[in-house]
Amino acid sequence: MENKELICVNCPMGCRITVTLDEGRVIDIKGYTCEKGKNYAAQETVRPMRVLTSTVRINGALARVLPVITSQEIPLDMMEEAMEAVRMLTVDAPVRVNQVLIPHFLGTDADLVASRSMKKI
Ligand code: SF4
Repeated sequence: MENKELICVNCPMGCRITVTLDEGRVIDIKGYTCEKGKNYAAQETVRPMRVLTSTVRINGALARVLPVITSQEIPLDMMEEAMEAVRMLTVDAPVRVNQVLIPHFLGTDADLVASRSMKKI
């Protein structure tokens, strides 16, 4: 068995949570104050997730790049593949904020969306 300690980052309380693993399986979680923290600790220990923020090239706008974000967290271990997919993407103006650029990004439940609007020039 193995204990992993982490600090929950979901609210300013910053609870110290201990997750006990047995052969990679979560068998106990202590120190959380709410279910959100408990779920976060389990996920963070087994397969951490993060929101991706980056930029992609855009044609026909004043700026050369468009800020993008995933609509929800994706597995941290997919970030390299995700950044490669973002580097390969070019979009055309106009684009509106929250417009889906790639649905089910890399087969996840997250979409890659524009995080601001850009007009066509
Ligand atoms: S466990 Fe709950 S109360 Fe504690 S830091 Fe996380 S979200 Fe906040």
